[in-house]
Amino acid sequence: MRIVQLSTEFAPIAKAGGLGEVIVGLSRELTKLGQTVEIIIPKYKFIDPLQIERIKKDTDFECTEKNISHKNSMWISEVEDCKLLLLETFHPADYFNRDHIYGYPDDVLRFLYFAKAALEYLKKQNKPIDVLHLHDWPVAIAAVLAKDIFQIPIKSILLTIHNAAYQGLCAVHDLDAIGLNGAKYLVQEKLQDDNPKYPLTINLLKGGIVYADAVNTVSPSYAKEMLKEASFQHALHITLNQHKDKVSGILNGIDQKLWNPMEDPHLAKQYSFKDSIASILVAKQEAKKKLQKQFHLADEKLPWIGSITRIVYQKNPKLLEQGLRYAIQKGCNFLLLGSSPDPSIQKHFDLLKQEFEKNTQSLIHFAYNEALAHEIYAALDFLLIPSVYEPCGLSQLIAMRYGTIPIVRSTGGLKDTVFDNQDHLTPLQERNGFTFQNSDTSEMENSLERAIDFYRQETASYQSMVRRIMKLNFSWQKPAQEYLRLYQKIAN
Ligand code: ADP
Repeated sequence: MRIVQLSTEFAPIAKAGGLGEVIVGLSRELTKLGQTVEIIIPKYKFIDPLQIERIKKDTDFECTEKNISHKNSMWISEVEDCKLLLLETFHPADYFNRDHIYGYPDDVLRFLYFAKAALEYLKKQNKPIDVLHLHDWPVAIAAVLAKDIFQIPIKSILLTIHNAAYQGLCAVHDLDAIGLNGAKYLVQEKLQDDNPKYPLTINLLKGGIVYADAVNTVSPSYAKEMLKEASFQHALHITLNQHKDKVSGILNGIDQKLWNPMEDPHLAKQYSFKDSIASILVAKQEAKKKLQKQFHLADEKLPWIGSITRIVYQKNPKLLEQGLRYAIQKGCNFLLLGSSPDPSIQKHFDLLKQEFEKNTQSLIHFAYNEALAHEIYAALDFLLIPSVYEPCGLSQLIAMRYGTIPIVRSTGGLKDTVFDNQDHLTPLQERNGFTFQNSDTSEMENSLERAIDFYRQETASYQSMVRRIMKLNFSWQKPAQEYLRLYQKIAN
C-alpha cells in the first residue's frame, strides 16, 4: 500500500510530545512490513540538518492563500529509516521559520496553509494513494480539502486523534483564505464548534471527523471515553457518536531502540530483563547514585517515586503535588521532571520548588531534558501518573521497560496497560502496577501506600514484578499490524 502521513511532528528532529514518537515508530514498522510510507512535515527552521540523511529537493510548486500565490519546495530525505518529506514555504509570514512547533498566535493559519500546500504537492505528483493518514487538528482540514476541492487519486482517509482536547478553532475567513467557502462549512456542513458561546467558530478536528473515512484514537478505552458525555474538556461526543461506526482505538507502541536499558547511552550501568534481578537492582542503584551526586539527594533505602511530564491540566497538577508531599512524608525520594506552559501552574510549582529547596528527598527540575529523563526512568522504583485523562500515555510503557512500576489513575490508555497488583480479576502474571479510579487525593495516597509497602515488605513479589514488566512487549509490531488491517479495510 502507499500510505502518506501528514503530521506536524516527527521525532527526534521535530518533537513536542508523544505525537512525534508515534509517527516515527508507526512509520518505521509499516516500512519494515513492506508498505510504502511517506511522511510530510513542515521544514521547521530548528531542524538540525545533521540529523537528516540524503536530503534532496524534489520539486517546487505554488500554493495560494487569500488568492495570492506563494512558492514552496518539497525536500525528500531519510530519517530514522523512514522516507520523510519536508515542506519548505516561502510565505511572507515565515510560517515555519520559528523556534518552536506550536504556540504562536497564527498557529491555525500556519497549519491550514501546511495542509493545503501538502495536498498541492500530492496533486502535482498525481500518483495513487491508498491511505492519506492525518494526525490531529493541525492537518484535519486536509480531509475536507481532499474530498471537496482537490482531484487527487486517494482511496481513503484516516484521521488519528492523539488528544481530543486540542481541536483547532478558526474563523470563517480562515477557511476562505485557503479556498474553502467558510460560511458553507459553518452552516451547511455544520462544522461549527459545539460550544454555544462561539456560534461563528469552526472546529477543525470536527471537520476531520466528519470527512475522514475512519477515525481512530490511541487506545481502546480512550475511544470509548471520547464517545461519552463531554467529561474531559471536549464536546465532540455528539459528532463522534454520529460517526460511531468509523471510530476505533489502537494502542500506541514505544520505540524499543530509543527506550532500551540494555543499550541506553545515558545510563551509568546498562541492564536487561535477561540479567539476574540482583544485577538489575545494582544497575538501578547506580542510576540513583549518579543523580544523588548531581542533585545532592538523600541516600534513602525507601523507594524512589517520580513523574516525568508536562505539568498541564491533563496530567493533574494537584495530584502531582500531593503525590510529592505524600511520598516525602513517607520517607521516600520524589523526583519531578517537567515544566508548565501555563504561567499560573508554573508559578505554583515555582513556589513548591522553593518550599522543598532544602529537602534532600526531593528534586523538582523544570526542563525538557531527554537525557535526564532516561536517567530518571532507570533510577525510579515507581512512576506516578495521576492523569485526569490520558489518550494513551507513553511514560508508563517506557517506565516498565526500565523496571519502574507505574502507579496510575485508571483512565484511557493507562487503563488499558496498567493492571493493579491486587486486581483479582487479572491473572497474577499480568498485574504490573498500582491503580486508582478517581481523581481523588486519598485514593491516590492509598495506591502510593500500597506500592511503598509492596516494595518494603514483599521483596520477592516486588522483584518478580520488576522482571515481569521489563519483559513486556510494547513494540510497534502489534499496533502496526492493527493499523495495516484498518488501512486495508478502508482502502478496499
Ligand atoms: P504527552 O504526549 O501527553 O505529553 P505521553 O506520556 O504520551 O504524554 O508522552 C510524553 C513523552 O514526553 C514521553 O516520552 C516522556 O518521557 C517525554 N517527556 C515528558 N516530559 C519530559 C521532560 N520534561 N523531559 C524529557 N522528556 C519528557
